[in-house]
Amino acid sequence: MTIDALIVGAGFSGSVIARLLAENTKAKILVIDSRDHIGGNCYDYVNQYGIRVSKYGAHLFHTKRQDVWDFISSYGTWEPWEHKVLAKIYPRDGCDESVHVPVPVCIQTIQQLYDPSIETEEDMRRWLAEETKNVINAGPFKNSMESAVARFGRRIYNDFFRNYTWKQWNKYPEHLDSSVLERIPLRYDRDDRYFTDPIQMLPSCGYTQVFDQLLDHPQIEIKLGTDYFLERHCFNGVQFTVFTGPIDGYFASYGLDRLEYRSLHFEDFNINVEQNDAVVQPASVVNEPSMRVPYTRTVEFKQFLNQRSPYSTLVREYSSSFGEPYYPVPNDQNLELYSKYQQLAVKETGKERRNVQFLGRLANYKYLNMDQAIGNALDHWQQWKTEGFLKEML
Ligand code: FAD
Ligand code: UDP
Repeated sequence: MTIDALIVGAGFSGSVIARLLAENTKAKILVIDSRDHIGGNCYDYVNQYGIRVSKYGAHLFHTKRQDVWDFISSYGTWEPWEHKVLAKIYPRDGCDESVHVPVPVCIQTIQQLYDPSIETEEDMRRWLAEETKNVINAGPFKNSMESAVARFGRRIYNDFFRNYTWKQWNKYPEHLDSSVLERIPLRYDRDDRYFTDPIQMLPSCGYTQVFDQLLDHPQIEIKLGTDYFLERHCFNGVQFTVFTGPIDGYFASYGLDRLEYRSLHFEDFNINVEQNDAVVQPASVVNEPSMRVPYTRTVEFKQFLNQRSPYSTLVREYSSSFGEPYYPVPNDQNLELYSKYQQLAVKETGKERRNVQFLGRLANYKYLNMDQAIGNALDHWQQWKTEGFLKEML
């Protein structure tokens, strides 16, 4: 078919824009992805043990944005799910005894690990004030160590964050932007949920079904296994392109250094637990902040939405510098380099040539949760409509 719009990447950023274009314009849209499936990093499937697993790590949907939820909830079916995470901590050096405590840190965490007498929010505030009394830095914080120590004190910082961050980023928190550890909340109460957003949901039949429905439209064609960087010459005449892949790949011929990303490797194993409702670990996700194991966390997929199977599938996550780009690495050096790519992107989308737009986690070199990726796409759509530059396609 003749294409009016090319969407590079079938993750949330690309798929939401494809849907909006299809519903609101007459455009013929081609969505391409270099992978052999839709859904981007949210792709999931049911394995041979009848358990739904996510190929690229567990994905929990949570949002404060009602408009994002109103939009996405009409694709697939969703049900409420509140995520909980435990961290495996070894309280005594050189001793193999471990305890599983809630993260984010809340009253139960402090009771189990440091001080059983902490009962109330007031106790918690007093205890934390004592832990942080020697911290003189009140911000602005230059890095993640400063921001975390100021909030949690050294003891929690060392037990929960320092080594986990090293395993995850191959950098200690002092070499990462403060935003990395600022993502992690601190609770003064007993709320041990990982997120507190008012909307917390999982798709009952998986994310892939959500994407199937998002992209199911007569104006949308999908071509998988198609790498834009290898085939971009075929798309030269396309009027409008939305690019959601890595921005440094798009501008690879400009001679700038490549951006730094962290990748993940997944090691999965299946255990015969004999009972349909039996599970192996005390929470769906167990974080491993100690250096005793090289992986950062273990996910037991059966626990999400209480799936039933006589087996359980567990997946360990190992972080790595090699492999597909997953996490942008936010530090001064990378952010400065990214700003140069941003300037190239501005030129590319500049006033005369408004035909390429850069959207999403990889194109914006920014960690985005799913709701932020969807919200970003909705916001851009509104902006494009207001500016009227999609007129030719309307
Ligand atoms: P992506 O999903 O990465 O999609 C981009 C697509 O572009 C990919 O399919 C890629 O193959 C394709 N592409 C790239 N380059 C090319 C090319 N040259 N040619 C063709 N196609 C190309 N968010 C949450 O809200 N909750 C969670 O619990 C959560 N857990 C996460 C766990 C992990 C391990 C990771 C890495 C992320 C997690 N996220 C979570 C974030 C979530 O995955 C992102 O918000 C979401 O995937 C962003 O969508 P996107 O479309 O911008 O990017
Ligand atoms: N983190 C940590 N210990 C933990 C959990 C998280 O040090 O038990 C740090 C780590 O640097 C991680 C960041 O906090 O990269 C963000 O954690 P989150 O769970 O939000 O990351 P994601 O689920 O995206 O991997």
